[in-house]
Amino acid sequence: MSDAVGDCPATRCLEAALVSNRLAHAYLLVGRDEGAKLALAAAVAKAGNCRGDHGPGEFCDACPSCRQVDAGGSANIRIFGDSGVLKIDTVDQFISYASVKTASGCLKVSVFRGVDFFTDVAADRVLKTIEEPVSGNVFLLLSRNSRRVLPTIRSRVQIMKVEQSTQEVADLQDAASTAGEDACLEVLLEFAKANVSLSETVGRLLRMGSQNSLRDNATAGLQTIALFMNSVLRARGKVPPLAGISLSTEPELARVNFVLDESRVGLFLDHLGERLKHIEQNVNPELVLTNALLELRRMTTHE
Ligand SMILES: [Zn+2]
Repeated sequence: MSDAVGDCPATRCLEAALVSNRLAHAYLLVGRDEGAKLALAAAVAKAGNCRGDHGPGEFCDACPSCRQVDAGGSANIRIFGDSGVLKIDTVDQFISYASVKTASGCLKVSVFRGVDFFTDVAADRVLKTIEEPVSGNVFLLLSRNSRRVLPTIRSRVQIMKVEQSTQEVADLQDAASTAGEDACLEVLLEFAKANVSLSETVGRLLRMGSQNSLRDNATAGLQTIALFMNSVLRARGKVPPLAGISLSTEPELARVNFVLDESRVGLFLDHLGERLKHIEQNVNPELVLTNALLELRRMTTHE
């Protein structure tokens, strides 16, 4: 497996678990490289279902089962969610996929992307399925930053790093990414307090990571808007606190002086998911971000 996807703590751990036939039912794969996490998930599906000639924990990459995984047509692996906010439809599809019993000797791999942005409602339903797994199922949850994952999820999965770099580099990247998100949250806080204009806010968000493209910055901006909305709800006691939010920002969020129409938050988060897709589809990032902030403003009335 490490030949196929590179050596890292997660690969070594999953390989050992497959060899000893002691796979846990759920893992949180943490790392910034989404492609590496997906490749590792595919390798687990191959190793768990290969019909070719190979040692334990390995796979041949040539048999029909391995080729189906590569072609995206295997019944033994399914990927749910994307980089955006989780849709209820996706949760329903996941639950029906994970509740079907596997053929004997098969390993069914359910992969969940964007676990960092799970809301409590979505997480509750996913967790229920993960905690009472039908045998032959393994759940791989993908995260960029484990500090952002709801504590209810973190406490129920085995957490593993997917990266070739050293631990120190990984920790530095985590810290830098958290600092960037905190800076984005500050910008949104100023916007919510009506201290800064819409166009100035869009400009700041798009310039946030100076070495990144406008598209990347717009994506990060939209993800932070989702985080911001969740944080405001948390700060107001509507949902339990999240470990990842920095202490410097959280009390501030509680004091944001606006009336929030909470009945519209779900729809707003759905729209954010669509807006993330628009950026992937090359819609002008400035326009997408402006529209998201306009919707945020419409949902909130200043007192
Ligand atoms: Zn094979």
